[in-house]
Amino acid sequence: MPAQLQLPCPATTSASTNATFATPAHSGTADASANRNSALERRARLTARLAKLAAAGHLAPLARQVGSLGGCARPIRMTGHRTRLDTATGQILDHLDTRHLPAGELLLRCGNRRATRCPSCSTVYRYDTYQLIAAGLRGGKTVPATVSTHPRVFATLTAPGFGPVHNQPGASPCICGTRHGDGDPLLGTPLNPQRYDYTGAVLWNAHAPALWARFTTHLRREIAHAAGLTQRTLRHHATLSYAKVAEYQKRGQIHFHTVIRIDGPTGPTSTPPAWATAQLLDHAVRAAAKRTRVQPQHRSGAGESERVQPPESSVFRFGRQIDVRAIRGTDLTGDAPVTDRHVAAYIAKYATKGAETTTGSLDRRLRFLAEIAQHDLTDHARHMIRTAWHLGAKLQHAHLRLRQWAHLLGFRGHFSTRTRHYSTTLTHLRAERTTWRTRQDDAQERADEGRSPADRHSGRAGRSDLTTGHTDPDAGHRSGQRATSGRRDGTHTTLVISHWQYTGSGLLPELAHLANLLAAAPKPRPEQQTSPRRARRAGGRVGHSTDPLTAAVQTEVMA
Ligand SMILES: [Zn+2]
Ligand SMILES: [Zn+2]
Repeated sequence: MPAQLQLPCPATTSASTNATFATPAHSGTADASANRNSALERRARLTARLAKLAAAGHLAPLARQVGSLGGCARPIRMTGHRTRLDTATGQILDHLDTRHLPAGELLLRCGNRRATRCPSCSTVYRYDTYQLIAAGLRGGKTVPATVSTHPRVFATLTAPGFGPVHNQPGASPCICGTRHGDGDPLLGTPLNPQRYDYTGAVLWNAHAPALWARFTTHLRREIAHAAGLTQRTLRHHATLSYAKVAEYQKRGQIHFHTVIRIDGPTGPTSTPPAWATAQLLDHAVRAAAKRTRVQPQHRSGAGESERVQPPESSVFRFGRQIDVRAIRGTDLTGDAPVTDRHVAAYIAKYATKGAETTTGSLDRRLRFLAEIAQHDLTDHARHMIRTAWHLGAKLQHAHLRLRQWAHLLGFRGHFSTRTRHYSTTLTHLRAERTTWRTRQDDAQERADEGRSPADRHSGRAGRSDLTTGHTDPDAGHRSGQRATSGRRDGTHTTLVISHWQYTGSGLLPELAHLANLLAAAPKPRPEQQTSPRRARRAGGRVGHSTDPLTAAVQTEVMA
């Protein structure tokens, strides 16, 4: 966290007793003392600063704002203001100025889906993906429950082989003669790296999005054919909905897990035709996957490469391992096919993982190839990245932008996609959550009556969809822009005037320390209403404060 490197002044200085916490200082004079400072001293210094804020009554409001981030590892900081006006009456509905927020800035969750980048935000993303997939299988979240009767399958499309790799072939040992354990880092890596087709492996990943697109075209064709229809007339009878997620196999190849469903002509609300069965869908998926081929894409206008008709061996296709399963309701037992709950959990799990999780690759873009020396990578991942980097320099592969996607082993597609009709949207789920949180904040504020004035003030300042840390300041408005927009809100039209400026990522040291303390502090059970009396009892033990966080800070001060 770069913010943590920018230490405030040493503890010995007369830290001002006012409420403002230190801004990152690029102080040369602090260097000598910074060297001496151990982690423990630093912690003590930050705690002392928080204690000062607590004494001035500013800690609880800060804790509430930081707490609203729900443990996001690297929140986005913004300054600016937003005013909402009712255009009919001219009345100001609300006004938010970040100068009045406890931290002096708006703090928003980073929203990163990768588990290696932000565990908290990736957990939220995983839950949301679960809800999206589950809703498409059993209804709910704006999707009618009747979708559970529509034919649907869960299919996995894999990559072909690029050379023998170490594996766990059931009861017998691997070709190398060893029986590999589950966590064996050798699994998925080539038996003979010198002879492994790294170029083919990387280029296949780069063409995987095109393969998927071609597959969906073939699938429509196969379904229409099986139903005795033309592709053009199919849409008058049925629509095809799907959700897919890309996962990395241990060998570094992308494979797709997908839920495919046949609905009636207008989507999930309409009844599918009688011919549409899970069996028909199963056959169609297998046939379409077998048929799918993608020619190496060459740069248009790059003369020399266009002259050559690529040989069949360089055409990209899916591997022979195609797995298609019917999806049953959760109430089925026995050696049942996969259930909707399994499928939703499975897809959600992979939606938060990238190449780094299974292949030991990187979770961020490379600027120079030499950077890979700084990272602890597997030899196989290093080889894939290096191959992508070198291929990226070749003119015929320029359009694949392989250097940009080297850290993803050549894959440049979306990790998780859905068709419009599959189920609800992430935006819908996020809006639902914001409404829920705002309601919780309201309830909290009502429960807080009887707290200190500073606490009440913070509650009011933080009570807005913006300060719950979960939404974009204004969807579609870029940072640094002045924006005015009108939104129809029920029968009234709301005018939003806003201006936002990005100030940085990650919390300032004091707030990061506060966030850590918050994460460590015991949380009240959700169903337990914190009554003012109970809060007083809990706080009474350590001093005048009624806030569990202030208590945590004071316990640290005393320790
Ligand atoms: Zn985050
Ligand atoms: Zn082996």
